[in-house]
Amino acid sequence: MNSTFANALLFVLFLVPIVFLFDTAMVIIKRNPRKTEYRLAFTTVFLLTLLLIFECIQQLLPIDYTNLIALYMVYPCVFLSAGTSLLFHLHQTGFASGIRYGWKGTAAFVPFLTYTAILVIWGEPALLSASEQQGIWNVEMFAEGLMAVMIELMALSLCNLLVTWWAVRKSESNLERLRSRVLFRTNLIFQASVILLITVTEILKPWVTVPSTFIFFMTALWGVCLRILMNKYQLWPSVETRYRALYQISPAAIVMMDRYGMIQDANPRAVHLFGTRLQGKAFAGLLDPSDRERFLHRFLTDFPHAALLKEEYSFTNAQGRQVSLLLDTEIIRSSDEWYLLGVLQDISRMKEEEARLEHMAHHDSLTQLPNRLFMEKELTSAIQAAKERRHQLSVILIDLDRFKIINDTLGHIYGDEALCKIAYSLQKVMGEDHRMARLGGDEFIVLLPEVNEYEQVIDCAERILQVFKEPLLLQGQEFFLGGSMGISVYPFDGTSAESLIRHADMAMYYAKKNGGDQYRLHNKELNESLVQEMQMERHLRYAIKEQEFTLVYQPQVNLQTRQMYGVEALIRWNSAALGAVSPEDFIPVAEKNGLIVPIGEWVVQEACRQAKLWQDSLPVPLTVSLNVSAKQLRQPNFAEMVMTAIQASGVNPKLLCLEITESSVVNHLESAKYMLEELIRIGVDISIDDFGTGYSSLSVLTQLPISSIKIDRSFISSIEHQHDKLEIAKAIITMGHGIHKRIVAEGVENVKHYQILKELRCDTAQGYFFGKPVPPRELENLLFTSLRNYVECLG
Ligand code: C2E
Ligand code: CA
Ligand code: CA
Repeated sequence: MNSTFANALLFVLFLVPIVFLFDTAMVIIKRNPRKTEYRLAFTTVFLLTLLLIFECIQQLLPIDYTNLIALYMVYPCVFLSAGTSLLFHLHQTGFASGIRYGWKGTAAFVPFLTYTAILVIWGEPALLSASEQQGIWNVEMFAEGLMAVMIELMALSLCNLLVTWWAVRKSESNLERLRSRVLFRTNLIFQASVILLITVTEILKPWVTVPSTFIFFMTALWGVCLRILMNKYQLWPSVETRYRALYQISPAAIVMMDRYGMIQDANPRAVHLFGTRLQGKAFAGLLDPSDRERFLHRFLTDFPHAALLKEEYSFTNAQGRQVSLLLDTEIIRSSDEWYLLGVLQDISRMKEEEARLEHMAHHDSLTQLPNRLFMEKELTSAIQAAKERRHQLSVILIDLDRFKIINDTLGHIYGDEALCKIAYSLQKVMGEDHRMARLGGDEFIVLLPEVNEYEQVIDCAERILQVFKEPLLLQGQEFFLGGSMGISVYPFDGTSAESLIRHADMAMYYAKKNGGDQYRLHNKELNESLVQEMQMERHLRYAIKEQEFTLVYQPQVNLQTRQMYGVEALIRWNSAALGAVSPEDFIPVAEKNGLIVPIGEWVVQEACRQAKLWQDSLPVPLTVSLNVSAKQLRQPNFAEMVMTAIQASGVNPKLLCLEITESSVVNHLESAKYMLEELIRIGVDISIDDFGTGYSSLSVLTQLPISSIKIDRSFISSIEHQHDKLEIAKAIITMGHGIHKRIVAEGVENVKHYQILKELRCDTAQGYFFGKPVPPRELENLLFTSLRNYVECLG
């Protein structure tokens, strides 16, 4: 009866479900061949495919083969697929996960084992009684044995249903529950349709026979349900989909860069982090400029050979917030191109917390200044740097003098406030290159990391001292606390942080014992000279501003006539702070720090002014000699300054004589000569002071436009007792006259000196014997007495 047409019809009828099931099997296994549930599902669907193929063959071949194919191909597939199907359901739902695989496997293959047993023990007839042609269908007839196995199969299918139902109930996540529910429904539809089909077959039996083949088509239905489930509910997501999902919902920001560092892809978290679209942008361009180069350098040197791990960068996001990033990368290759997959973590919070802890560990909570720990570290590294770069550094330890008063009278709260205020003021007076810390209590420490001269340190200490001079206002009351300071200098006072602090502390104690409100160096010898010098400098500046200087004048007389022809102007300083200070003490200091220039300028102006007064008031001309220090003479505008003073006062320059020391000219003979010539042109006289103490010879003096030579005081004192002094004085006078210079003797204290010098034919002299340096008024009196004597002499 089977015509070619019928066969073609049958073939097409089978082909569609076969192809569909095969495709489903392949899709499943391709998604993840490594996972058991994927493999079980694949095996099940593949066995169902085979089942349909065998069924198709059975229908196409003549009726004689029907039972053979059914027995050895179709039914084994049916029972095996039922077994793998159960295993799949168990695995997918996690049901009976505690039970060993062996047991589960045995249970799942009970129908198959029963079937095989019957076949082996009772033979084929126990399973299939006969076969017959029903229309176009070749149908096998069930015997009792097969009926029994079929019942087992139904029970097994029921297990699938129960297992999925259980899974629906116990599912914890929504997605899980959804999947289980759909799996349950698939099984339900399958079972129901099979039962329905069998029922309909039985009912319709008297009229129409429905071939058993139709039941097998139902398995295709199961496949369809599975396929829908897979796609709609992501039952078995593919690896890619799984990662896509992860990528989309990942709390870490992920970007993919190409080999040019351009972002090809970025997940939503990354876009959120940067606050801007990232695709197509250069990753380096997003970073802060300071980090850009570092990233590019790493990228260019390492990519694609090595990934970047745990790199920290920062950037400013679209909202202007500074964000710290931790970047981990992975190098991936996709279609012959290398890419860099970067996972970015926002570690700003962590960094802030770290910084906060770091700050807390290294800062004093009251004043917010660095603490002792910080200073010790800082000092240690500063010492290292000083050692390497061969410079000095200094530590100043400050201890408040009367801090206890505040605590005792106002209480601790105001004590704290006082400390904060002092910390603030101290920081304010100190520059950028100082570091300050609070050591605890009322002790502070200042580090000067690079020092080249002691003056720098003293200057800083002076500035700190000024802070304590200002009153501290607390609760409307003024407090003068005062501070004692100790100073140590690396490497002289110590080479370790510990020893420098300890020695500064010792010096501080010494300052405190001396009455406080002062600073002390650990090096005691330096203390006196340096500290005094620095104090002197401060007072000198004040003296210049406040005009604390005056000039006194000492008469200079002609030795032959004993007539006063001139005076030497000598500076006097009556300091408000230090009292009367001798020029021998402050002139060298002023020369060292350069203050001699403004002081000298004042002397010139004042001497000119006085000379002009005498020029106008006295009957005889009186020359005024004034002292010029080496440093002054080296000022390029010195002559100009003198000129201006002369013009301003209106004095006759012929009445002025500038005394310069020989040492100030011999070292710079050329420039000195030039300067002196300029001065001569102005019209003033030049005299060499303190002659004989330096090392110049008279021959040098012949080259200079000078008019007189002053023999130093030291040769005149006790000239009456010391023969060699007499000889030197004699030689200077003789040789001086030889080159046509006038000779002046200084320090003539008694009549003996006077007589000797007169005998040696010295021209002029000055000294206590003729008159001490006195203010202008007194000098005028002296001058009139001398004039009277002179007139008397003449008379
Ligand atoms: P100098 O130029 O050698 O000044 C003479 C010093 O000898 C003066 O000391 C004077 O008071 C002192 N003197 C005068 N007669 C006698 C005497 O008979 N016996 C003794 N033992 N001493 C006598 P003074 O005023 O203390 O000045 C000391 C030095 O300070 C001066 O030495 C001079 O080098 C410097 N000086 C004074 N005034 C000025 C000034 O206006 N400018 C500069 N650059 N230096 C000055
Ligand atoms: Ca002099
Ligand atoms: Ca002198």
